[in-house]
Amino acid sequence: MQAGPKKPMSLSNTLGAMGVVIIALSLPAGWYLVYSKNLERSSAAAAAETLEVVDSALHMVEAVARERGPSNAAMGTREAALDRTALDTARERSDRALAHARQAASTLRDPSLRDSTQAALSALQAHLSQTRQRMDDHLGKATALREATLPNQLIQEMFVAADMASQLSRGLAVGTNSVSDHHQSLRTLVTRATIAAALRDYAGRMGSVVSMALIRGTPLTAEEQRMLSRIHGRSEEMRRHLDLNILLSTDAATQQALARVDQRFFKDGLNYVERTQQVAPVSASAFAERYVPMIEPIVDLRNQYMRTARDAAATSLERSQQAQIGWTLLSLAQNLLVLTLLWMVKRRVLKPLSQAAESLRRITSTPAGEEEDNSKSTSADQDEVSRLTELVGSLVEQSQARLQLEARQEKQLLELRTLVGVDPLTGLENRRSVELRAKALLAEGKRHGFEVCALVLDVDHFKLVNDRYGHPVGDEALRTLASVLQLSLRCEDISGRVGGEEFMVLLGYCPLNHALDKAEMLRRRVELRPIHIKGLDEPLFITVSVGVASTNAHGHQWDSLTSAADRALYQAKREGRNRVVADDASNSAAGALSSDSLVSPPN
Ligand code: GH3
Ligand code: MG
Ligand code: MG
Repeated sequence: MQAGPKKPMSLSNTLGAMGVVIIALSLPAGWYLVYSKNLERSSAAAAAETLEVVDSALHMVEAVARERGPSNAAMGTREAALDRTALDTARERSDRALAHARQAASTLRDPSLRDSTQAALSALQAHLSQTRQRMDDHLGKATALREATLPNQLIQEMFVAADMASQLSRGLAVGTNSVSDHHQSLRTLVTRATIAAALRDYAGRMGSVVSMALIRGTPLTAEEQRMLSRIHGRSEEMRRHLDLNILLSTDAATQQALARVDQRFFKDGLNYVERTQQVAPVSASAFAERYVPMIEPIVDLRNQYMRTARDAAATSLERSQQAQIGWTLLSLAQNLLVLTLLWMVKRRVLKPLSQAAESLRRITSTPAGEEEDNSKSTSADQDEVSRLTELVGSLVEQSQARLQLEARQEKQLLELRTLVGVDPLTGLENRRSVELRAKALLAEGKRHGFEVCALVLDVDHFKLVNDRYGHPVGDEALRTLASVLQLSLRCEDISGRVGGEEFMVLLGYCPLNHALDKAEMLRRRVELRPIHIKGLDEPLFITVSVGVASTNAHGHQWDSLTSAADRALYQAKREGRNRVVADDASNSAAGALSSDSLVSPPN
């Protein structure tokens, strides 16, 4: 079997298919957009969470560093006077900070970062416990039995613990980077906070080294001097790092915090450390009392960095949440808009088109009983516009056929009216009918010996009327003239239109003088009758010339009587038109008769 030509899809179906394709394409696109916005949002949320973990780690660094002060003090105190309250409080604070950091680390989303942090915390805890144990053993001994170099070693071990805590916090800060790829400023802020925390620790170490010498009551050893200058150098280096990142625009609060650190620690604090080594020594507690407040601004700076970072994370999270909601709504609205548009096109365009096509189909459909033209395609094969076009084409064809039919019918009607003797323009009898009836009247006049007069009326200068006003106005003038005739004649009189603008009247039992009166009356009525033409301000007037002939002069013969009347008409035209003229023979016969008898003898 051979496959037929491919049928075009209807516009409704095409539109439906388009809708499905558009939705099928835009849904995944919209979903992807929303998905990527969701990723951004969860990344911002993760960054905010990680910040909390970093913060807890930084507090832990601080707590571990602070534990050194009371440790130093305890190891420098004679066993009898030992008050462990400050040491125990510091240790408890370190333990709490450690537990808090451990708990915070358990919320980390990155499993490897989480595991490494937990492992580092465990190592730190183990190291701290071991150092504390050794310190407690040392403190438990009588002063004389104590090992002289151990406090120094133990403080070194406390430095190691602080290093471990710092390293752990730096690791977390680096871990935060992966989460906050797109939060450049956040990353910088976290890095600075860890530097500030490390700086606080180093400032504390300086104090520890000086305190140990003060407790011992001897000047700093060469080793301690070296250590002090190393710590000093590192601190200056950290300070420079805080100025490095040009991407970060520092706010006023941070600048103030930084300025306070410069003033209180880098200027006052370092000076004080220097002075304490050279000038008269003070007690360790007096030194701590003055020195510790000088390093407190570093903690404030660290907190300021973290506060700014937290604010940035919260803003970022809020923005990404808003963006996610916005894009979700936008994507939904876009799909809705496309669907609405398609629906409107279907309802407002295609449906009316189909309805119009259906109406046209009914108008143009083949009448019942006749077979439909199978060569034409059916509506199922076509789209709405093609169907409508085809139907309009067929409607035009049908209208043309109908017009041709009407023209044919009109022509036939004219022929029919001519056959039955009616002039189609005026409704008067036509020449054929006038002739037939006139011949009957003449035959009767001949038999009964009565006079018949023929009047021939012709419109004067009618050609001018046509030329000036157009043929339709000429027709209207002819119809007016016909109505004057109909209204002026008796019903037994014969009248009709025998030529273009030529009319004839036959009056039986009518002597010439009566016929002339009648002719004059007709001429006069025509002359006075206004013809109102649409579009013309003034009415139109026409005149007629009338030729009259009598059977008394020409016998009851149609040809001779009408010829004589025609001759009289031409005479009237020659004499100036708009007048009535009887031919000479008729006039003479009438004159002779009036002297003989009133009734003319039969021919
Ligand atoms: P005259 O006074 O010598 O009779 O001048 P005329 O212009 O009337 O005579 P002529 O024979 O030169 O022109 C007759 C005109 O009548 C010419 C023709 O176009 C017009 N005519 C004949 N039949 C009709 C008709 O049915 N309707 C109209 N509007 N005009 C017709
Ligand atoms: Mg004429
Ligand atoms: Mg004429």
